[in-house]
Amino acid sequence: MSDKQISRRSFLAGSAAAAATAALSPVVLPQAAQASSGDEVLTTVLDVARCEGCEECVGACREQWQPTVPDPVKPLPKPFPPRVPTSDWSGRKEVQDRLTPYNFLYIEKLTIKHKGKTVELNIPRRCMHCENPPCTNLCPFGAGRMEKNGVVHIDPVLCMGGAKCNTVCPWHIPQRQSGIGLYLKFLPTLAGNGTMYKCNRCLPLLKKGEQPRCIEVCPQELQSIGPRREMLAKAEALARKRAQEDGADPSRWREYVYGLTENGGTNTIYVTPMPMKVIAKAVAADHRAKKQKVLARLDAAIAKLKKADKQEALIKAKRKKKRTAKSNLGRPAMGPVGNSMASEENMTAAVLLAPVAGLAAGFLKVFGSKRPTAGQEKGGEA
Ligand code: SF4
Ligand code: SF4
Ligand code: SF4
Repeated sequence: MSDKQISRRSFLAGSAAAAATAALSPVVLPQAAQASSGDEVLTTVLDVARCEGCEECVGACREQWQPTVPDPVKPLPKPFPPRVPTSDWSGRKEVQDRLTPYNFLYIEKLTIKHKGKTVELNIPRRCMHCENPPCTNLCPFGAGRMEKNGVVHIDPVLCMGGAKCNTVCPWHIPQRQSGIGLYLKFLPTLAGNGTMYKCNRCLPLLKKGEQPRCIEVCPQELQSIGPRREMLAKAEALARKRAQEDGADPSRWREYVYGLTENGGTNTIYVTPMPMKVIAKAVAADHRAKKQKVLARLDAAIAKLKKADKQEALIKAKRKKKRTAKSNLGRPAMGPVGNSMASEENMTAAVLLAPVAGLAAGFLKVFGSKRPTAGQEKGGEA
């Protein structure tokens, strides 16, 4: 049976159960137990060698999800204290070479020298859908959700945009758009700063028994989705094959996967045509170079502002440079990642937050039960 056949059939076999499960799942923190039990958890396997970088998947994801992001209120409410940054991507929706609130998936394009050959690699990047997601377990407002089918998503009705999810995610995946969402109703200068967005694995489509858009449109059919146990077996078989093709002993297949153990395990497994440590190094170098370019542009802007003696703008630009230096600029790394929820600090925080998040979610549901439409937000309801 070909990889393509497995991909389609596995999904269809698992989708009915998955849809039923997704529709019924309650959400209680902490959620590790929910995610790890049963065949109904859906896992994706990506055969990186087959990606040709056409970005059909990126286009389909954008088409599906961009229209669901409401227009932000303009001007954006000023946060308090003023040094708290706002995030505004509404004028840059076309950006698709990184994660943004309007772009949940991008293609990491790499040129790697490996075993005397130059290899072009394209790697689809989005949320990993961790088995024990810190973004969800540590959200103070209970806006993080993990379904029984393993899908991790953010409820835009409850999200206050405080970006805790971005901070605690080992890959810093969720992205904020300010001027949107519930925080506008609650002291907009103090409470939150917008709404966080990331890949929701096309949950509404899964619930209907359909495939995620990025999987459906891929001409290479390199991504499979299905019950976790089945997908893990597929990933191992494929990784053994890729290791052998790379001249390694198939028993070293674990060196050719990413996502199996990272952050304690995820429901996204990349299988790669060369050892992950080679790819991780190339990703880090590429991201470093991209960041250097951005920092150089900021340095030039800072020099101009200094010359023009524009003090207020200069302070802002310096703050932006500091933030930029610390940020991954919406491009997640691919190095080893320990289990973030295993740390005592995070486990304690999750246990303490569970009831608070539940209460907050209940309160916010009552007082902010309807998601404001784009028109309402434009009308400046806040
Ligand atoms: S990759 Fe980050 S955003 Fe995605 S589930 Fe894991 S912790 Fe959450
Ligand atoms: S699963 Fe859906 S939301 Fe996630 S990257 Fe694919 S198309 Fe986008
Ligand atoms: S559609 Fe498929 S081949 Fe094209 S970039 Fe996306 S994953 Fe790669």
